Amino acid sequence: MNPTEQQTHSFQAEVREVLRLMIHSLYSNKEIFLRELISNASDACDKLRFEALRDDALLADDPDLRIEIEVDTDGGCLRVRDNGIGMNREEVTEHIGTIARSGTRQFLEQATGDEELDRQLIGQFGVGFYSAFIVADRVTLLTRRAGDAPSEGVYWESAGSGEYTIRQVERPERGTEVILHLKEAEHEFLETWRLRALVSRYSDHIGFPIRFRTEAAADDEGEAPEAGGWETVNQASALWTLPRADLDEDDYRAFYKHISHDLEDPLCWSHNHVEGAQTYINLLYVPSRAPLDILLQRDERRGLRLYVKRVFIMDAAEQLLPHYLRFIRGVVDSDDLPLNVSRELLQENELVGKIRAAVVKRALDMLSRLADEDAERYLEFWDQFGAVLKEGIVEDHAHRERIAGLLRFASTHDSEAGQRTSLAEYLARMPADQETIWYITADSHRAASHSPHLEIFRQRGIEVLLMSDRIDEWMMGYFTEYEGRRFRSIAKGEVGFEPAQAEPGGEDAQPARPQLLERIAEVLGEAVAEVRASQRLTESASCLVLGEQELALHMRQLLQQAGQAVPDAAPVLEVNLGHPLLKRLETEASDQAFTDLAHILHQQAVLAEGGQLDDPAAFVQRLNRVMAGAPAETA
Ligand code: ADP
Repeated sequence: MNPTEQQTHSFQAEVREVLRLMIHSLYSNKEIFLRELISNASDACDKLRFEALRDDALLADDPDLRIEIEVDTDGGCLRVRDNGIGMNREEVTEHIGTIARSGTRQFLEQATGDEELDRQLIGQFGVGFYSAFIVADRVTLLTRRAGDAPSEGVYWESAGSGEYTIRQVERPERGTEVILHLKEAEHEFLETWRLRALVSRYSDHIGFPIRFRTEAAADDEGEAPEAGGWETVNQASALWTLPRADLDEDDYRAFYKHISHDLEDPLCWSHNHVEGAQTYINLLYVPSRAPLDILLQRDERRGLRLYVKRVFIMDAAEQLLPHYLRFIRGVVDSDDLPLNVSRELLQENELVGKIRAAVVKRALDMLSRLADEDAERYLEFWDQFGAVLKEGIVEDHAHRERIAGLLRFASTHDSEAGQRTSLAEYLARMPADQETIWYITADSHRAASHSPHLEIFRQRGIEVLLMSDRIDEWMMGYFTEYEGRRFRSIAKGEVGFEPAQAEPGGEDAQPARPQLLERIAEVLGEAVAEVRASQRLTESASCLVLGEQELALHMRQLLQQAGQAVPDAAPVLEVNLGHPLLKRLETEASDQAFTDLAHILHQQAVLAEGGQLDDPAAFVQRLNRVMAGAPAETA
């Protein structure tokens, strides 16, 4: 194949679909295309400056990095140009012809057709270059990678409807130019005043000058982009370098959108200039919404950007943030690291270690502050990222108490749905003589809040934390106490107290009935480790109880389904001797009926845990026999 020939390609089907949805759902925010293109241009300048640290010839012929915007009123075109790193042909195909994001498919699966919902979805998914198609019916991209020969320029064009063409062209200047052939209805973006207002609103504080060609100069000087005919319209000083006092909330919000490509405002941020043994700046943001794949832990490339003396070095989220803070976005700019710092060096550098420790502290401070100052917004954070933060309990020993202070849980003492409680609140509510922080884990909130294990706790008014994130069972395996109080699962071990005595009309304390328990145990065989009289149940007939060190049933099943070996551990079956079913068992004359009832007691306890039965059909048969009151032989 001749690399210079023109080729026409189809977009991946997904790209086409995303484009269609994006144009539809972002139309009311259509002006974001300008910010997205400027962000890309600014990133391209950052990358070139970094590469030029090793090879200054890359910059030599045109050392002033900049972004230029030019309007062609007659042609109905808007041009956004940078003299940054540029792209070669493979890069154009790879970056512009595909949307190489793991979230694409998920996005399409979740897209609803509801404009507002899809807008939020697509916002977290990031739109970038493709946002040009909101306002343009044709987009041309001309680019040449820094260091490549002028003959190796690339021309790419698409009408956004399914195909693009690509060919090699002569391009004297390095960098990228995006030409938007504006739709008839979008000619407002040919108005310089409108564009300038957008730049100052969205892009004032990116680190490179954004220049407009002034009308008069354009007339005088024709095509060539002479410096004299250009006017810089932004501040062009990287936002994080400015003193906090010079910045307002809108500045911070606009800058966040630049670095994150998020359409939503950030939830909060923290900006610190640190001087002392080391001099560095950090600017950290918490997004409003988690990316779709946050729990898969993949989208880290846009985490935290590392700069050294204002020069972008790399995305260094991995080196500067522990895994459980992977949702943080922002910038760290160090004056002390060497400009030629490599990834390997970052791993072991002592200065980096200190910056990382400071970033963790600032991030946790920021979250604590939000929790203290605005509980409602903190809950928004919690709903999005709480399950991620919980990983920190296991991962980050040194900060366990601090992270524990940030945890929130549903509880049996919630007065309304969606309420959350902190551990401090739990401690404050519990009676002075209570030594244990009680909790239950289940695979849904419903299963947790309806668990039979809660009965005795409800009866006695003892608060229980209801945990239903997947990670909870794992986290609680490591999280054994908080402020000197031990955590215990209400579904494991003996609870150590008994139901209140003598319900009205009921018998007094139930005498233990060892024969009955033994007989049930005999019927159930290896399915249970023991059958004992329950201290927990006041209403249900039976429940399963695990050893204190054992994995909850729903987790066992999850792991088994994932093909992992889990050690066998038969649970204890607890039965409520005051329950009519148990009373019936005691006097049951038919062996078959006794066997059926004993199995049902066990199987309903499995079901109440959210577990699955080994043989559901047998369960149904037994149940039907018991309900029909028919002897086994005739069933
Ligand atoms: P994103 O910027 O969110 O990764 P885009 O669709 O905007 O997604 O761009 C995809 C990729 O194309 C970028 O990551 C970058 O590698 C490349 N790219 C886009 N614009 C430019 C540009 N002006 N100069 C160089 N590369 C660019």
